[in-house]
Amino acid sequence: MRLLLVEDDSMIGETVRLGLRKDGFTVDWIRDGESARTAMSNETYDAILLDLGLPRIDGLDLLRYLRAMTGPRGRAPVLVVTARDAVPDRVTGLDAGADDYLVKPFDLGELSARLRALIRRQAGRGASIVEHGELAYDTVNRSLCVAGVAVSLSARELALFEALMVRPGAVLSKAQLEDRVYGWSDKIESNAIEVHMHSLRRKIGAHRIRTIRGVGYVLA
Ligand code: CA
Repeated sequence: MRLLLVEDDSMIGETVRLGLRKDGFTVDWIRDGESARTAMSNETYDAILLDLGLPRIDGLDLLRYLRAMTGPRGRAPVLVVTARDAVPDRVTGLDAGADDYLVKPFDLGELSARLRALIRRQAGRGASIVEHGELAYDTVNRSLCVAGVAVSLSARELALFEALMVRPGAVLSKAQLEDRVYGWSDKIESNAIEVHMHSLRRKIGAHRIRTIRGVGYVLA
């Protein structure tokens, strides 16, 4: 799952980035409103974590800008994180299109859980277990069972698998998979996706992921 973290406070930003990475999210961290607007226009995120008090462009203006966009990018779930805990700010945030609200200081575990809930809701399912054929994936524990047997995946394999499992039946190109699995600061070897795809297939059964030549990959 790829997240955009918009936070100008270095200490909070670094803590949140590390915490979410440990929970398996791919995080792009941005520290000002203007760069955040560029990122929102150019990338598709599974969720956006938005601080309200930001340099250059205010968080609320960013939120309105995002919601005015057409297409899937503008519909990314937004969790507003802010020190402003006054009720009017919270109401304005929700009215501007935020999906959830967290007041600083917050617990990293709670933040992570709320993000997973938002992403699940966005995908149109309330339950934490997603099933596709013989695959059963628990989005809370990030654990996978294949035909009833637990399979353990590395972080990259898991990220690849989640990208495919979010919308089973959708064909994802190599570039789209790279987007889901790697953040901006990650170095990517040109064949990285193929390498992780190979080991993922070895673990869950090669026939469960189909290659559509010249297009991409899809869950069978
Ligand atoms: Ca701030």
